[in-house]
Amino acid sequence: MKEAAITDDVQLLKTDLYAEVIIPLALPKTFTWKIPYHLQQKAAIGKRVEVVLRSKKYAGILSAFVAAPEGFQPKEIHHIIDDDPVVFKQQIAFWKWIAAYYMCSEGEVMQAAIPSYLKLSGESVLIYNDEHDGDFSHLTDNEYLIAEALFIKKQLSLKEVQQIVFELNSVYRIVKTLVEKKVCTVWESLQEKYKPRTESFVVLQPDYQQEAALEALLNNWTKAPKQLELLLAYIHLLRTEGEVTQAALLKKSGASAAQLKALTEKNILTIQKRSASRLPARPALVNIDFSLSDAQNKALEAIDEGFQYHNVCLLYGVTGSGKTQIYIRLIERMLKSGKQTLYMLPEIALTAQIIRRLQKHFGGHIAVYHSKFNASERVEIWNGVKSGDIKIVLGARSSLFLPFTDLGLVIVDEEHDNSYKQQEPAPRYHARDAAIYLASLANAKVLLGSGTPSVESFFNARQNKFALVELSERYGSLQLPPIELIDLKKYPAGKNGILSQPMFEGIKQTLNDKKQVIVFQNRRGYSPYISCNVCGHIPQCKNCSVTLTYHKSANRLSCHYCGAHYPVIETCVACGSRQFIQKKSGTEKVEEVMAVAFPAAKMARMDYDSVKGKHDHDKLIQLFEQHKIDVLIGTQMVVKGLDFEGVDMVGIVDADSMLYFADFRVNERAFQLMEQVSGRAGRKNENGKVMVQLVQMTHPVLQYLKTHDYKGFYAYEIDKRNQFFYPPFSRVIDITLKHREERIAHEAAQILTIGLKKNFGQYLSEPAAPHINRIRNQYIVQVRIKLPRKAALIQQCKREILQQIAILQNHKSYRSVHIFPDVDP
Ligand code: ADP
Ligand code: ZN
Ligand code: ZN
Repeated sequence: MKEAAITDDVQLLKTDLYAEVIIPLALPKTFTWKIPYHLQQKAAIGKRVEVVLRSKKYAGILSAFVAAPEGFQPKEIHHIIDDDPVVFKQQIAFWKWIAAYYMCSEGEVMQAAIPSYLKLSGESVLIYNDEHDGDFSHLTDNEYLIAEALFIKKQLSLKEVQQIVFELNSVYRIVKTLVEKKVCTVWESLQEKYKPRTESFVVLQPDYQQEAALEALLNNWTKAPKQLELLLAYIHLLRTEGEVTQAALLKKSGASAAQLKALTEKNILTIQKRSASRLPARPALVNIDFSLSDAQNKALEAIDEGFQYHNVCLLYGVTGSGKTQIYIRLIERMLKSGKQTLYMLPEIALTAQIIRRLQKHFGGHIAVYHSKFNASERVEIWNGVKSGDIKIVLGARSSLFLPFTDLGLVIVDEEHDNSYKQQEPAPRYHARDAAIYLASLANAKVLLGSGTPSVESFFNARQNKFALVELSERYGSLQLPPIELIDLKKYPAGKNGILSQPMFEGIKQTLNDKKQVIVFQNRRGYSPYISCNVCGHIPQCKNCSVTLTYHKSANRLSCHYCGAHYPVIETCVACGSRQFIQKKSGTEKVEEVMAVAFPAAKMARMDYDSVKGKHDHDKLIQLFEQHKIDVLIGTQMVVKGLDFEGVDMVGIVDADSMLYFADFRVNERAFQLMEQVSGRAGRKNENGKVMVQLVQMTHPVLQYLKTHDYKGFYAYEIDKRNQFFYPPFSRVIDITLKHREERIAHEAAQILTIGLKKNFGQYLSEPAAPHINRIRNQYIVQVRIKLPRKAALIQQCKREILQQIAILQNHKSYRSVHIFPDVDP
């Protein structure tokens, strides 16, 4: 392709060259551009190019060289922005697969895949780098104009930049060099403010950076033993941490600033103020200082064997069996062979706890990548992965898009977790499934790990599509905690509406034993709905068909779907009465009741309301780890992957709410969630216990939960899935239509269904409004298709869906209907 074109310069100048360019927009198809002669030398797949579409400028990615299009003359590419490709061919192939499989545009995948710094869309903003020394002498005229404007105004939109250099068409090129020359950074929107992080680092003076010179210095040390001590502490830190900050050194050594100053005055050490790398420095050694149990060793061997015949292996290891330890061994091996490992976790499981645990072994070899990181941290990791410097990435689902050069292993921990599926916006991909595809492109292996595997993955393992390895014993041969079901009909939840007598006694006992308790309630707020005691009116959100949740601490009503807040209602709008009652309870209420019931215990609540800040979550976890908190009350957040020593008891106060909602995965979710919460109890001793309160004692999931019988549950569930033709036996595609007018949304759905009926009628459901049929003032209608698992049929169906959507969107009345397919919802 490109290589072929430039091997023969003469031919090159004669031939026209055309390229497909991915633009970060939701376009129905890819467009072709012509590469003008003077740019042909430089053109390569994966480089960004500047193009104009509908009179707007974009930085797109050259994704393929193509034949001359027939019937029209494409526009020319304006510039080639990069000297080196910013993405690899393998990534482009990955994007294309995601777009095709999950039915979205390649541009939408690109949007999700690359850091904003590489995007440079019309919305981008340049921000002056305060650390720049202000020396602009090496800049070209145009660069200088922009740099000066930036220096004065501190930030400029791309539009403003365009005005400054309006006679030129090379805005992106200039911006890129300005970024490279560290004059500015690029931000996609103004919301993210740039904060350079500077720190004081302690460095050895060049004279002593040679081992021999340093040794001589130490050997001949005579006076000032305190300074020698400090110096030794410094050397130790340097060897273990890679680089040393002044703060860390003083803390570790207990030395005074004056002693450090003395060493700098002797020209042994020096202090440098510089912007701290967001990535931790790399220590010299990898430190794997534990041995696996027999069961773990066997599992590891079985994984090796599995990988001989399969690319994907499912590790079904009960909670607390030590899956992480096995991952660490596998990562260590990858590291030795120089290959990269991607270790994926659901976003909220990416806590400091797991990071610390891995850093203990791999130190700075590990980079962490998730959505709380700002753009500059992301860019650093992006570049480190691309250069191959970073060998281990611990990340949430978006880390799949990093430019791995030599990926050897992908670990998908907690593979059953539904947050691996992206909901909004497109691409609505499932990170586990996408990981399997990515690994196939890279020739890498995939290890799926879970204590409660997804029905799909366990089915694949049973079908011998994946290797299956089981680790059925907890580390230290501990038993899984017994689960006691408390019938709320027999033991009512008391006056407070939350704690039954047995639950109260159980918690009391645990606290008396000086042990910790987790109380799980999968609903935040104080009360998920309030209703008028006279007429039964229930206040709803103005924008959504959702009942409002009362938040006591904030003293307001909130919609959990659109985020709108309302003042607390005193008077019923329907009947004018002033009596409202609160129905059901959320975490806030549980916390309040617990505080009254156990006044001496220290409590904390962990949910999206209580852990807003970047570090709140981690802080709470640490306090709980250090037993500065006795009872932790929370939503799913308290569940995911956490490992606490002191927790003897887990209480689930309202299991009914998990067992009844309309979704074919309801049983699976309920089993996984309750089994995972239970798994937090008794991880270091035999005294763990779990209490579950509920009304519906006959629900079929409960018998399996009671005995931790995953396989029994699986057998039950797979049978149901088969019976009702649900995944893994079918493939589901949901098409959602949204519009401000209910009628239009329904009409559009009708037309869509009629169009699809001809070929897919038997797999199609009638359009229906979901339980919550209006969110943010948009009415929602859904059409579900359940297809047999035949690749050709599925492909044809996807094609026809896209055609029907295109037809609708060409129709005047339905142009504004927002339609999106969701594959494998
Ligand atoms: P899982 O992820 O399977 O629930 P973890 O990996 O969190 O289990 O392990 C449970 C606990 O047992 C952790 O505290 C872990 O440190 C400890 N553990 C597991 N395997 C070992 C081992 N081989 N040596 C020392 N501690 C271990
Ligand atoms: Zn009323
Ligand atoms: Zn709302």
